[in-house]
Amino acid sequence: MHIYGPVPSRRLGYSLGVDILPFKTCSLDCIYCQLGNTKRKTVQRKKYFDVDAILGQIKNVIASGQRIDYITFSGSGEPTLSTSLGNLIREIKKITSIPVAVLTNSTLLFRKSVRDALSRADLVVPSLDAVTQEIFDRMNRPHPSLKIDHIIDGLIKFRQEFNGKIWLEILFVKGVNDSPSNIQKLKKVIADINPDKIHLNTVVRPPAEKSALPLSPQELEKIRKFFGKKAEVVAEFDKIQQGSVSQDLKDAILSMVARRPVTLSDMSKSLGKHKNELIKYCDFLLKEGKIKLVIHEGKKFYESSP
Ligand code: SF4
Repeated sequence: MHIYGPVPSRRLGYSLGVDILPFKTCSLDCIYCQLGNTKRKTVQRKKYFDVDAILGQIKNVIASGQRIDYITFSGSGEPTLSTSLGNLIREIKKITSIPVAVLTNSTLLFRKSVRDALSRADLVVPSLDAVTQEIFDRMNRPHPSLKIDHIIDGLIKFRQEFNGKIWLEILFVKGVNDSPSNIQKLKKVIADINPDKIHLNTVVRPPAEKSALPLSPQELEKIRKFFGKKAEVVAEFDKIQQGSVSQDLKDAILSMVARRPVTLSDMSKSLGKHKNELIKYCDFLLKEGKIKLVIHEGKKFYESSP
């Protein structure tokens, strides 16, 4: 299953998710990752899945006439690790005028081949949480070959070459990258990168590590003011986007967790839905207090909340 949604997204409207990697294939292992720990930590790009099969699934959803505001590459890890990305974007552009977005962790942008692969996208949302190697290592637990200075250089080069929009995302974890000196340094680096927007986020979903704690809305607001007019807070906190949520899927999750505690993988197999889509729904249900999350032997289970 390579396609999920369209799922409602505050930033992208109705976003059709495209996942081109095996689950949790990433160059990082961020302490806040909502997908859990990285199973395959790699910087090696390769072809994972058949391009025609992925395109076929995208075509079917477009043909169904559902509203799609963006076709978004994200999913189970770092999309630029797939060598099919550039080709897929080119092929999508031949069949539809729906804009294409790519969410990336920025780590491979120092490679020309990766910048070229992204060149036809309409929007790229790269993330950058740290500007010192020490904080990068602690927060993002990178593949050992990755150096934050190269990543920043890659972002600056990408900005110079790319004609689409860049929304730089920074996620803050309390006590890790929120010190005044780090925020000051981030501001300077962001000025060098010159993105179109700066999106500020924090830990709002169950993280890979319990120790990854969020900033408060007030703390994020203070940083937003400091970063200036391009910055906005995108963390959703307690706001639940209703109206665009499938009640059937919510009910199916509730009926599953009523029987026994289940993992995201259990739900995905049983309901035939992508984990990223299910995470959104579990998020709604957690915030509504209808389910709860428990960790058992390092695994996350969703249970019914009495
Ligand atoms: S948050 Fe993104 S970049 Fe970080 S480990 Fe998870 S998938 Fe990889």
